[in-house]
Amino acid sequence: MPKVGKNMGNRFDVIIVGGGIIGASIAYELTQTFPEVQYLLIEKESQLGQENTAKSAACFRSAFSSTVNIKATRHTIEKLKAISNKRDIGLRTSGYLWMLGLPQLNKLQSVFEKIAGSGVDVTYLGPDRLAQKVPGLMIEPPSEGTKEFEGYINDPNLLPEPDFARFFKKVSSDRISVDTIAGGYFCGDCGFLEPSDLVDFLRSEIRRSKNGRTRTDTEVMEITYEHGRVEGVKLRNDERILADKVVVAASIWSNKLLAPHDLHVDAHPVMRQFFHIELSGESCALSDIPMVIFPGGAFMRSSPEGLMVGYAHHNEDEVERSSGRRSIYHSGLRFYLDLYLPGFQNLRSPNYVWGHYHTTPDDAPIIVNRDDGLATVCGCSGSGIMKAHYLGYLEAHALSGCIDRLPPEDKENLALMTNERFAKDEDGDYLDKSKWITEELVL
Ligand SMILES: Cc1cc2nc3c(=O)[nH]c(=O)nc-3n(C[C@H](O)[C@H](O)[C@H](O)COP(=O)(O)OP(=O)(O)OC[C@H]3O[C@@H](n4cnc5c(N)ncnc54)[C@H](O)[C@@H]3O)c2cc1C
Repeated sequence: MPKVGKNMGNRFDVIIVGGGIIGASIAYELTQTFPEVQYLLIEKESQLGQENTAKSAACFRSAFSSTVNIKATRHTIEKLKAISNKRDIGLRTSGYLWMLGLPQLNKLQSVFEKIAGSGVDVTYLGPDRLAQKVPGLMIEPPSEGTKEFEGYINDPNLLPEPDFARFFKKVSSDRISVDTIAGGYFCGDCGFLEPSDLVDFLRSEIRRSKNGRTRTDTEVMEITYEHGRVEGVKLRNDERILADKVVVAASIWSNKLLAPHDLHVDAHPVMRQFFHIELSGESCALSDIPMVIFPGGAFMRSSPEGLMVGYAHHNEDEVERSSGRRSIYHSGLRFYLDLYLPGFQNLRSPNYVWGHYHTTPDDAPIIVNRDDGLATVCGCSGSGIMKAHYLGYLEAHALSGCIDRLPPEDKENLALMTNERFAKDEDGDYLDKSKWITEELVL
C-alpha cells in the first residue's frame, strides 16, 4: 500500500477526470473502501452525469455469455439494488424479453442455454406466452404490411439501406415484411433505472465523505508530468492541481487527454438514440411491459413519460455521427412497431434523446493502470451503466495499490480488460483476437 492521505489544498492522491457514471462510481468505491485515499473528481459540465450517462436508456441485464460480462453486471446490479433500498433511483426489475425470429432462435438457442447454465435467471417462452407479456402483440405480422406500410415503401424519405435492411425484409420491390416471432427468452434479473437519480445519490455520498471532493465547471486541458511520472493536471484557466495518479474516465473525450502520453485506447464514438413515446387511451396497456427486444434489434421499455423506443443494431453510418435523426422513428421504427403492435398504430414520439457509445472492438470496457501514474477506465460501449460499479470497484483497488486484495477472478478480469488486447501489427491488423472478451449476446 503506497503512502496516501494527501489533500493539502491543491494536492491529492488521485484525480479522477470525468464525472459521468464511471468517474462517479470510481469515486464512490474509493470513499466506500479506501477512505484514506484523498481524491478530487473533476467535471467540465455544471453538474455530474449530464453527458452520455444522462442520455442513456439505462437498462441493465445480467444475461451475457462471457464470464467477465456476467461478473461485471451481477456485481453492479447487486450494488444498484442496495442503493435503491436507500434512495429511489427509479430502479425497476422489469425483466428483459428477447423475442426472436426463427433464424435468430436457431442461432441463439445454445447461447441462452449456456447463459442459463451459468446460473442466470433465463426462461424459454413459446409464442403464446410471449404474447401474454406484451398486450396486443402480433406474433405473425402481415407480410404485406398495412396501408401506411405500402405507402412507406414509395416514400422518398425512406430510411437509408443499412437501417432499412436491419428492420425490414424487402419481399419484392413494393413489399416489405418483418420476422414472425418463433419464440423467445425472458431474463428475470434485468430492468432499468433513472441514471440522473443514481448520479445524484453518488454525488451526495461523495459530498458527505471525508476523502472526496468534486469540482464542476472545470475542464482538464492536459495531464502534466515531472521526471517521467504523472504530476497532476492543468485546467483551462491554467491552474495546476497536483496528484500522484490521474485516472481519465472521460468516455469519448478520453483519447484527447491520453494520446499525448502514448496511450491511445481502441475505442471510438458511435451515435445512439432513443425516442420517447406518449401513451394515451388503449396504448396505456403498454405502460407495464418488460424491456422488449423485437427481432431485428428494436427495443421498447416503459418510462415515466410512457415508452422509450430505440434500436440496438450496429450501423457503420452511426460511427462518429455527431447528432441524432428524427427520421429513424418517423420513417422507420414507427412502421416496424405498427406491424407488431397493430392495435396501437402511429404511437407519437414528441422528442428523442441522443448521445454516444464509446465503443471498443469487442464491446467490453478498457481499464489501464500504468506504472507512471496514468490510468483510464473508458470504452464502456453500450453497457456503462450496468457495469459501472464493478469497474469502479476494480479501479479503486488499482488506484489504492491494492490489486492483491482482489479475489483471483476479479484480478483476472482486470487484466483481461487491458487495452493491450487490441494490439495491432504493422499492417493495422489485430495481433491476437483470442484475447478479446468474446460476447455472444450483443444487443
Ligand atoms: C442512447 C444511449 C443509450 C444507452 N443505453 C444504455 C443502457 O441501456 N444501459 C447501459 O448500461 N448503458 C447504456 N448506454 C451507455 C452508457 O450511457 C455509457 O456507457 C455510460 O454513460 C458511460 O459513462 P461515462 O462516465 O464513461 O461517460 P459520460 O457520461 O460521457 O461521462 C464522461 C464525463 O467526462 C466529462 N469530461 C470529458 N472531458 C473532460 C475534461 N477534459 N475535463 C473534465 N471533464 C471532462 C464529460 O463532461 C462527461 O460528464 C447508452 C448510451 C446512449 C448514448
